[in-house]
Amino acid sequence: MQENSKIRRNILLNPGPATTTDTVKLAQVVPDICPREREFASMMKKMREDLVRIVHGDLNKYTSVLFCGSGTLNIDVCINSLLPEEKKVLIINNGAYSARAAEICEYYHLPYIDLQFPADQLPDLKTVERTLRENPDIALVHTTHNETGTGILNPIREIGGLVHKYGAVFTVDTTSTYAMRPIDIEKDNIDFCMASAQKGLMAMTGLSFIIGNTEIIRKSAAYPKRSYYCNLYLQYDFFETTGEMHFTPPVQTIYAARQALDEYFAEGEEAKWQRHLSVFEAIHEGLERLGFRDAIRRELQAGLVVSVKYPDDENWDFEKIHDYCYERGFTIYPGKMSAQNTFRLCALGAITADDIKAFFVVLEEALRKHHVRIPVQYL
Ligand SMILES: *Cc1c(COP(=O)(O)O)cnc(C)c1O
Repeated sequence: MQENSKIRRNILLNPGPATTTDTVKLAQVVPDICPREREFASMMKKMREDLVRIVHGDLNKYTSVLFCGSGTLNIDVCINSLLPEEKKVLIINNGAYSARAAEICEYYHLPYIDLQFPADQLPDLKTVERTLRENPDIALVHTTHNETGTGILNPIREIGGLVHKYGAVFTVDTTSTYAMRPIDIEKDNIDFCMASAQKGLMAMTGLSFIIGNTEIIRKSAAYPKRSYYCNLYLQYDFFETTGEMHFTPPVQTIYAARQALDEYFAEGEEAKWQRHLSVFEAIHEGLERLGFRDAIRRELQAGLVVSVKYPDDENWDFEKIHDYCYERGFTIYPGKMSAQNTFRLCALGAITADDIKAFFVVLEEALRKHHVRIPVQYL
């Protein structure tokens, strides 16, 4: 997958930014251009359409809106822009990324219900339905597709069906599935999904985008404006009337994303997903060989993030293992579960199962060097 270039290739097993191809890295090196030029606007127009195509959206019904910022900005924008006055948000929360949506409601002083479920379990659909039934003022429901903090895959199609039955709008944080695990925006009952370029697209940080129902965006023109910079309708309207981002776009990042989109379509949705799955399988094989245990039942995992329990070994020190691997070009990442100590290995990015095999050689060396018993021990 990688060319013979002089850029050192690091294997990022963190949940984004992901390992990129050199062609995407180098696509940032372009002649200086003012982004108000027609050439740039036409590139963004095509990009907005391609982003909708990735989730198989009908361009007559769905659009995409670009923003300059990291992925969390999308959650902020959806929640602050899509809630009518006097209405309530429901957050279906079984992990750290959905919890972020609850914090956003808190910061905007929006009425919300934080419907919490254990981080290692799926949301209970009966409870979701009862909550919707008992609270007819819920107008916006938000959850996370692949809860990146644990790697759990939430049943968005089923949740979306309930949301629509009760007449609410469904926003789904697909940041860690978009352009990896296939999504069909309409069949999956999603009104709005979102991602940033540095994850599934395997491009650079700094560009995020929301893909969603054009009619709902137009309707939201009449909703309270709670942010000046981060309003979905205002940004959409600016794109539609001028072809440009309201404020300065991340120019070079957009060139890289253009290249990444070309590479996405060249690799193909299914082939790319199978590659990520093969990386995921290789991660599990390597972990099992060393005796590591998952924090989440395997059948609940989305196929992209593995949360691994810390072994019960007095010599286990995540930082030291991280540093040993990092010095050899492999990045591992801490966990995000409050109830137990975990670390994460992710299958994002321009990597293959062979990279994972090479990683496990280094991880085993790291464990031996620091006298962690192999197979690793659990009490
Ligand atoms: C990465 C990610 C985000 C965005 O995080 P940033 O740090 O803002 O880039 C949001 N939601 C999910 C599910 C993610 O995986």
